[in-house]
Amino acid sequence: MKAKSSSGSRPGKHREQSGKPAGNRSGQQAGRAGGAAVKAAPAWMADLPVQIGQQYEAEIIGISHDGEGVGRVNGFTLFVAGALPGERALVRVNHLKKQYGYAALVEVLEVSPDRVKPDCVIYEECGGCQLQHLSYEAQLRVKRQQVVDNLVRIGKLTVASELSEEGIIVHPTLGMTDPWRYRNKAQVPFGEERGGLIGGFYAQGSHRIIDMEECLIQHESNDEVVARVKEIGARLGIRAYREETGLGLLRHVVVKVGFRTGELMVVLVTNGSLIPRVDEWIAGIREALPAVASICHNINVKQTNVIFGDETRVLWGSEVIYDYIGDVKFAISARSFYQVNPVQTEVLYGKALEYAALTGGETVVDAYCGIGTISLFLAQRAGQVYGVEIVEEAIADARKNAELNGMTNVHFEAGPAEVVLPEWTRQGVRPDVIVVDPPRKGCDPALLATILELQPRRVVYVSCSASTLARDLRVLVDGGYGVAEVTPVDMFPHTTHVECCVLLIRNC
Ligand code: SAH
Repeated sequence: MKAKSSSGSRPGKHREQSGKPAGNRSGQQAGRAGGAAVKAAPAWMADLPVQIGQQYEAEIIGISHDGEGVGRVNGFTLFVAGALPGERALVRVNHLKKQYGYAALVEVLEVSPDRVKPDCVIYEECGGCQLQHLSYEAQLRVKRQQVVDNLVRIGKLTVASELSEEGIIVHPTLGMTDPWRYRNKAQVPFGEERGGLIGGFYAQGSHRIIDMEECLIQHESNDEVVARVKEIGARLGIRAYREETGLGLLRHVVVKVGFRTGELMVVLVTNGSLIPRVDEWIAGIREALPAVASICHNINVKQTNVIFGDETRVLWGSEVIYDYIGDVKFAISARSFYQVNPVQTEVLYGKALEYAALTGGETVVDAYCGIGTISLFLAQRAGQVYGVEIVEEAIADARKNAELNGMTNVHFEAGPAEVVLPEWTRQGVRPDVIVVDPPRKGCDPALLATILELQPRRVVYVSCSASTLARDLRVLVDGGYGVAEVTPVDMFPHTTHVECCVLLIRNC
């Protein structure tokens, strides 16, 4: 395809507004090319079929893990933020590597039937969502396809399809009936603009705070809390923290809501231990927001991106709020980890419970158990559950949650799963089912080896990264397991994240 010198105006077509900007990659090299102190482009670049600053027509053939359209120009791959599979688009190249490059979307020439107008007015600026320009049904299809692609390419597994029944069944992604307002936690950075207090989000690829009134994936009450806290802060004349100078007080406002209880927690994260006029703060929040059950203060004086400091105090009310996943009650503190989409968590862990096929007497191991969410879910139907997690505070929370629910058939231990599971084995623990829910990097090889030694009848793998899942499934399949089925679950609508629940059954 030939390079085009101008975009040309085509009535009725989507133009640059039609997708997301390319973030901090946009214009990296193109921008420099115009400057005086430019290094000469490396020789390999001249041999590529596309050149920086030039425009081309690209066929968009897929979507990347980051939600960018995967475009083809003269056989060369260009990632195009905002472009969708099936589209033909005019793109401008702005960054090149030897094997691929990045281009900005100039104009969509052939529009995908799956393209929708993003509902959020700040979608283009904010880095939070990546897929709002794709219909929700199509998002679910894309997520399933990403799982399939990983299983095939990385796991070298065969997936059943319309053409062939042979292979692993990958179900359609379980999505939300209403994929908006699903988050129960907001962590909002505060700043100042023209002397006024602002709170919102960081502009893509930077730490510039953009004021925000609402976030369509947040629970409404979280937006309401942030708005009221802004008003109260402005009235009391609080200064926001400034990263560049390390001065100012209010850094972040963190809000948590129990979806089922309606309880709210507000955490003021400050650069210093004294909040001036603190009683007025408390009175103001209580008056404006009667559902607030807990007001906490976290102190973070470090010049860091990490939101929380080490010290948390209760300013008013309870130390925790409560929420339920299924019938299990959880206490949520300012710092404790809790799944951010409680509706879909119930769907995901419901699937894990179904795949575990418990009848009441089984011994179950929950590796990477966090605050014990899956463990307690499983304990309702199991004989004995063993949960292991590396973060000690999470295990303390898990024990409290077991007590809160009167569950005595769970045992929690802090430590690396790959060390603790072999210890339990030495102590004679023989699990019928092992559930793993590892972080993105997947399971430790030593843990997989122990699973293969223990040979439980069922392994349930809950994953937040399809690529490491595929890698680990290959190990388990080679070690004598069959992948019975895979269910992707959409925990984070409008973002590129995809979770999966996988059932493996021991051969013979
Ligand atoms: N199942 C949990 C969360 C899983 S997230 C829930 O439903 O809430 C993955 C967890 O693995 C995190 O809590 C992380 O702290 C923990 N982790 C990371 N490496 C680990 C290891 N080597 N051994 C045990 N836990 C680990």
